[in-house]
Amino acid sequence: MTIGGRVSLVGAGPGDPELITVRGLDRVRSADVLVYDRLVSQELVDAAPMHAERVYVGKSAGCAALNQRAIEELLIDRARSGHQVVRLKGGDPFVFGRGGEEVAALVAAGIAVEVVPGVTSAVGVTASAGIPVTHRRVSSSVTIVTGHEDPDKNRFDIDWDWLAASRGTVVILMGLRQLPTICARLIAGGRSPETPAAGIANGTLPGERVVTAPLSELADAVSAAELEAPALVVVGEVVALRERLTPAQDVEPLPALLSWLAPA
Ligand code: SAH
Repeated sequence: MTIGGRVSLVGAGPGDPELITVRGLDRVRSADVLVYDRLVSQELVDAAPMHAERVYVGKSAGCAALNQRAIEELLIDRARSGHQVVRLKGGDPFVFGRGGEEVAALVAAGIAVEVVPGVTSAVGVTASAGIPVTHRRVSSSVTIVTGHEDPDKNRFDIDWDWLAASRGTVVILMGLRQLPTICARLIAGGRSPETPAAGIANGTLPGERVVTAPLSELADAVSAAELEAPALVVVGEVVALRERLTPAQDVEPLPALLSWLAPA
């Protein structure tokens, strides 16, 4: 038996509010309580009903306005009061989003919980920028890693040597600060310094910026361009496909679907 309301852990998608799923938007539009992070767009926050309680928990780069335990307690408390609670997270809730911890805490507390997946930035931001993470004969695998910690410390069990030696695509989230070390580490492990690479900031959003450079020059190029978070990095031959996959700039944009996002 579960008690009271329900928590829906919803992925908001990679940035552009229209990239949330149909089910995710449905949950937001019927929320009594919306608990959301920094990477969630204002349009989605506004899509919740007028009466909904909105709680910003401001998680970014590992530090939270509310700590993880306090967030879990808030979700449990509101669900126990009988509310439909939506926990809205950037991208997909289970890709570096601590979604697994939140679901475990809810399950342990006997709260009904569902997970509504989202388009992760690791795949969605890259696709939208014209970079397919896999492509026949170019790359048959993709590894998504956190660049949050100094790779020389080896604290996160990332096998940088294996990643460097593999021929697959590497997508690095939260890697802006450690970028020089990460690039050097991949080259030291055997990736060619010429490997195509890209830094993408504010992907799928109006302020999107893409910087491409060979791996050995990427850190300097990204810093010269002053790319700011949120940003991710893609390393691999697939980055070179972008030239052929980016549509001409003069294509007439299709109309926005923002009317979908209005509160139900
Ligand atoms: N759960 C999220 C990732 C959370 S970690 C997901 O699935 O996408 C946050 C990191 O995601 C950021 O530091 C950045 O590396 C990446 N990111 C999120 N949104 C982004 C965007 N619009 N453009 C570029 N990178 C983004």
